[in-house]
Amino acid sequence: MRGVANLGEISGWPVGHAFILNQNGTRLVSSRIWHFSHRDNFRSLSDASEQLAVSRGEDLPGQVWQRGEPVWITDVEHDQSLREQRDFSHLGVRSAFGFPVKLDGEVIAVVEFFNTRLTTPDLNLLALARGVGNLIRHVIERVQWQEERTLLAAIVESSGDAIIGKAPDGTITSWNNGAEETYGWLAEEVIGETVSLLLPPGMAREESEILEAMKTGRRLDQFQTRRVRKDGTLIDVSISVSPIRGMDNQIVGTSTIERDITARRRREEELSKARDEAEQATRTQSEFLANVSHELRTPMNAILGMLELTLQEDLTPLKRDYLQTAKDSADSLLLLVNDILDFSRLEAGRFELEPVPFNLRDLLDEAVKTLSLRACEKGLELICRIDRRVPGRVIGDPVRLRQILTNLAGNAIKFTEQGEVVVNVKLVDQTDSTISDGTDSAPSRFGGLPGEQVMLDFSVTDTGIGIAPEDQERIFAPFAQADASTTRHYSGTGLGLAICHELNGLMKGEMHLESTLGKGSCFSFQIACSVADPDETDAVRERSRVSELKDLPVLVVDDNQTNRVILEEMLTNWSMSPTPVDSAQEALEKLSSTRRDDTGYPLVIVDALMPETDGFMLLEQAKDEGLLDTATILMLSSADHQIFGDRCRDLEISAFLEKPISQSDLLDAIMTALKGPQLEQNGVVQISETKQSLRVLIAEDTPANQKVITAILKKRGHQCVIANNGREAVDWVRNDTFDAVLMDVQMPTMDGLQATKMIREYEQEAENHVPIIAMTAYAMRGDRDKCISAGMDNYISKPIDAPKLIRLLERLATKYPRRASLTPETFGEELLSAGESPEEETQISAGSSGKPGSSSTVFDMAAALKRVGNDPEILNSMVEYFFEDAPVLLKEISRQIQVGDADELARAAHSLKGLCANFNADTAAEAAKAIEEMGYQGDLQDAPEAIPALKAEVDRLTRELTQWRTEA
Ligand code: ADP
Repeated sequence: MRGVANLGEISGWPVGHAFILNQNGTRLVSSRIWHFSHRDNFRSLSDASEQLAVSRGEDLPGQVWQRGEPVWITDVEHDQSLREQRDFSHLGVRSAFGFPVKLDGEVIAVVEFFNTRLTTPDLNLLALARGVGNLIRHVIERVQWQEERTLLAAIVESSGDAIIGKAPDGTITSWNNGAEETYGWLAEEVIGETVSLLLPPGMAREESEILEAMKTGRRLDQFQTRRVRKDGTLIDVSISVSPIRGMDNQIVGTSTIERDITARRRREEELSKARDEAEQATRTQSEFLANVSHELRTPMNAILGMLELTLQEDLTPLKRDYLQTAKDSADSLLLLVNDILDFSRLEAGRFELEPVPFNLRDLLDEAVKTLSLRACEKGLELICRIDRRVPGRVIGDPVRLRQILTNLAGNAIKFTEQGEVVVNVKLVDQTDSTISDGTDSAPSRFGGLPGEQVMLDFSVTDTGIGIAPEDQERIFAPFAQADASTTRHYSGTGLGLAICHELNGLMKGEMHLESTLGKGSCFSFQIACSVADPDETDAVRERSRVSELKDLPVLVVDDNQTNRVILEEMLTNWSMSPTPVDSAQEALEKLSSTRRDDTGYPLVIVDALMPETDGFMLLEQAKDEGLLDTATILMLSSADHQIFGDRCRDLEISAFLEKPISQSDLLDAIMTALKGPQLEQNGVVQISETKQSLRVLIAEDTPANQKVITAILKKRGHQCVIANNGREAVDWVRNDTFDAVLMDVQMPTMDGLQATKMIREYEQEAENHVPIIAMTAYAMRGDRDKCISAGMDNYISKPIDAPKLIRLLERLATKYPRRASLTPETFGEELLSAGESPEEETQISAGSSGKPGSSSTVFDMAAALKRVGNDPEILNSMVEYFFEDAPVLLKEISRQIQVGDADELARAAHSLKGLCANFNADTAAEAAKAIEEMGYQGDLQDAPEAIPALKAEVDRLTRELTQWRTEA
């Protein structure tokens, strides 16, 4: 501190010493900066002073600090205020003055001077001291600034990033070590240059854009670009640029921090490539699985269909058992394939929900009904309960919802040995998110308004084996089963719950499980649905029906508490007046008490199976006592009610209701029972509708599937023509008349979509429309759209479900009746007697021949007999005609082929076809018809080849008929 020395020299005071504030600013301590005229004379003073640490007000420096002003002490030896800290009696000085050094108005140091003589305050000296204080302050400021600068520079220098300063015109002004390392240029090589030497070719614009951005004062944060090093290599960098402002806030330059991210980039790229590859592999695997399972379904179709058909034949018990086992295995294989297909599609992200409006109650009824047989076989009560406030129609994916519920309920049945399985649907009250069970006293309301969102809570509860806590989380994972032993005891794949869980996720729901080992489990989930427009006709019909039932007293007898509650709920919903009782005893009491007071129950609903006195015994007893004279009786039973056959003979039961009872079935049964005639005595009415025989073109390339579909349709009494590909199908439609076309989508030569388009084009000219039903294994939404837009009317997926196919086919055929009606001698009508139900037909043909299983396929004498009005004589003559005419016609056919007369050939073949058709000899008739067709087409090229087949069929028929004649 030169200021202290200078002042000492100027003033002639021999000792000067500076105190500075300690680190935390609480004391003044010696700076060890001194000015001495003769140091040795003042050893004891300097020793005493350098020990000192004074607070405000203490000793001389403390007083200066406190006042912030110079302080003058004329006689230090006798000044009381100094005594405490330094004992001036032996320090060799007499007078002293001190002055402060201030920074921003705060004292940061104090300088003291001592004299060996007594001196009075000297104003000039004090003024000079003040000036020196200011000087010292400047010096301190500079020192501090310098220190900070050095520190900052050190930080900048030590940074691994390139930190580059630039002037507004882009000239480099500073270049740190990091920059040298990153770019390979030394500071002295680049300072004064522009950054263009760092820019790869073609990127010059970038720098001018940066400079432009800086002018607006904007910061650029971590943008990624490329730069070139001194050695010419390109590197990836991340750059942040900020403007530097001068005192007047003007932009005086820019500072950029540039980081070499080449290595990081490379790592990222490698990682993302690896991730892409892994994802692709998973996708490929899932897609492969999806495709394979999909391909598996096609042959499964043929296997299942053939087994089903064979099982309908007359078989020895052993063969039936073998085939039934094969069919059971094929069924479970198909389930497994379906599960794998679903799961792999879910995994591959190729699963889409198909939301449509549907009736929730119907869906639950159907889902539960399919499981009722299994529940019944195990002696379990399967109960379906729907909160009355749950809307009737909602929008959602019914197929998938049904799949989840069937899966959960199926599991519940599988893992329960006794007790009950309850499927429950409730409405979640969204205001307070409590679940309503519909039994509260709040005004009842059937669902929300159309378009409104409702939250539905589905649960499946069982009284089965339960799931251990440690397994509860795990079983939702694919292929997981609660423990290894269950795999052996209960078959299964462990895919069901995983699929439910995923599907539920797609529906934005979450699956919950509560379970106690040995007590049972409850699987539940909640999903939001919007309420669909009500089906007006349903609603009106139900309202008008229900009004007739108002206040009708009903006695409900069931030992199962849950069932009683549900029945009571349903009946109350329709404003009836139910009385639930839990035993036959109680029922009898109720019946007799009401008879006493003359009220009675017009309707009694009785559970067939109850402990002690069962439903039948109850009814018998009540009848004996004359308690049921006017009552209509409905009996609740499980799926096997036929076994009660005899027992209900005299009981006049109006209807059997299969458990679980659906709301709509119950209402139907009540209405029919109260109004309609009583059921037939055995309690089962089989109403088989009269179906008109349809002529159906089957376009399908796989022979096995051709056979299955043909067989299904023939059983139903329809006639089939096969086209092996799309081109053949188009030809057939152009040259013949059909009631409907079943069109496989994937076929060689011309696929189903192309064929349909061509048929539709042709039909435009002909002003005709034959219903076309697509058959495809692809059950995906896009494919269905493709079929419809190609002009198909509807769609059925493989494996073909026979009842579904028949329903669809017949519905469409009725919708689009064929223009040219069948002439009486048309093949089909001769061959198949319209009006026979397929059941009847099957029965008769099975029992028709002396040699079951072989000749029954050749002809059907029972049907023939029926057609001729059950007159054996006529039938006998028909056989004789055949023996006489058939050989002649066969010869005629061969001759006409030789001479090439197509018309005559057609006529002869037509006659022979008629002869065979008289005995429902389908195959022989077909063979004749094939040749007849050739005649009509005028194309005799293939005719010679067709002769042996026809001859073989006619011979076979002749043999069978001869045998029949001997047996008859
Ligand atoms: P699977 O039944 O085909 O094995 P799931 O995924 O449907 O496959 O079920 C997985 C496992 O969860 C079952 O194997 C069984 O151990 C357990 N589980 C599922 N539902 C129930 C239930 N209701 N009660 C007891 N255990 C159950």
